[in-house]
Amino acid sequence: MAVTFDNILGQPHAKAFLNRAFVHRRISHAYLFVGAEGTGKAAMALEFAKALLCTGTEKGSQPCQQCVDCRHIAELNHQNLVFWFPHPKSAKEADLQAVRASMIEQPYAFKKPWPNATISIDTVRGLKRELGLKSHQGRSRVIVITDAHCMTAEATNSLLKILEEPPEQTYFVLTSDRSDQLLPTVISRCQMLRFNQIGVADLEDGLRVIDGHDDTLKRQAARLANGSMRRALELLDEDMLALNGHAVELMRATFKSPSQSAIFALELAQKYDKASIQQILENLLLWLRDALLILNLDAEQAKAHVTNENEMETITRFVERAPLFDFQQAIREIEISVEMINRYVQPGLVLTVMLNKLRQFVQARSAQHAA
Ligand SMILES: [Zn+2]
Repeated sequence: MAVTFDNILGQPHAKAFLNRAFVHRRISHAYLFVGAEGTGKAAMALEFAKALLCTGTEKGSQPCQQCVDCRHIAELNHQNLVFWFPHPKSAKEADLQAVRASMIEQPYAFKKPWPNATISIDTVRGLKRELGLKSHQGRSRVIVITDAHCMTAEATNSLLKILEEPPEQTYFVLTSDRSDQLLPTVISRCQMLRFNQIGVADLEDGLRVIDGHDDTLKRQAARLANGSMRRALELLDEDMLALNGHAVELMRATFKSPSQSAIFALELAQKYDKASIQQILENLLLWLRDALLILNLDAEQAKAHVTNENEMETITRFVERAPLFDFQQAIREIEISVEMINRYVQPGLVLTVMLNKLRQFVQARSAQHAA
């Protein structure tokens, strides 16, 4: 008997770890799932709840996904499941419902409309009351706290008291993509499980069942998503090909005059939000990595590994045109730019400075080449 968590993309380590817990009946009362956004932490939390509460199969085997318990968990509507996410006190019930609905529809990409919201002490107090009052008829209860780092200090301390003496058959799953912001006392009370970036092939599997969009686009989204199913789904919705096209245009701009490239940078910054600009830069990084592969591998090998399969000709021409372009330094420069945009430096400014630096690399190397 095994719980193989077939609904979850990749994460062989986390699956094996949880399966062992079920097989040996040594399920920890508190887990902390950490890892980047879109790696399946919340999705796994629900599968974990199903594995505990499924009545369609034997205990300790794969949840059936069919029984009333499995279905109610998938609908976030099971009386033994608590599902929390950060939200402002003033949030309307309809908005909360919209978040739940998005989780039900696609656990890898449920909506997070309140980036600065917290989980308050009132929520934890409410839980305490509920745990004390509600009879759970000898069945397990699962409390899922997504983005657990958003708990206020008060809420965290209150939760710690529950974690110190957890009620019987009550299991907590905390998820976080910012485990550095969690109190060490929380981390030490939980069994921590790391969620890794999802492999390209697994992302492709996950995207295959999504309606609309053709396979080429899905393949490209999987390759550009940096191991995140959330990002892959966003990429399908965005005009991904346009963003990728802009990455190539940015590279071309380094061959143009400083004023021309500055205008291009500002236009781009006006047209797109922060996340899209960062995606353009991520695409540019992938594009440069492809160029490095083409430079260093034979054609067959390069084709097997590049992200931009359809752009190989353009990239090859670039490699020929700037034979001594300093890729390492350029990649570093772009990574710094992504980081600066993260810190809210104006994207237009960041792009202009970046293009000037990249132009210097092209020119310095060309001059060196000529000499
Ligand atoms: Zn079931």
